Amino acid sequence: MPEASFGENGICAVCRRNPVTRWCDFIIAYNNEFIWVKGSYKAFKEANSGDKYETCDLPMCEKCANKVSRDRHLCPHHMKLHNQRELPDAYQKKRQHEEKRKINTEIWEQSRR
Ligand SMILES: [Zn+2]
Ligand SMILES: [Zn+2]
Repeated sequence: MPEASFGENGICAVCRRNPVTRWCDFIIAYNNEFIWVKGSYKAFKEANSGDKYETCDLPMCEKCANKVSRDRHLCPHHMKLHNQRELPDAYQKKRQHEEKRKINTEIWEQSRR
């Protein structure tokens, strides 16, 4: 991730009082379009490697940012969505669980080869 500054007098977009120290890390768009670069295939591969997504980036102060993991923070609006990430349907939850177990087993078996 490229480093960027919070600006000299950025004010939190939520409380509109405190200085900005965080950006919302909620992913609002996934993008896997190819990026065309001039030059070698290597350069093309590098430009297109890894996950590409766009985050909310709402500027917030320390108090308004909801910490969801070590270095991930969400704005109040996206925190609400984050709290709904669990599947409400019991059958779907069961299927999700089975699928995750299957994927993990496959990864584990591949790592032993
Ligand atoms: Zn704030
Ligand atoms: Zn947000």
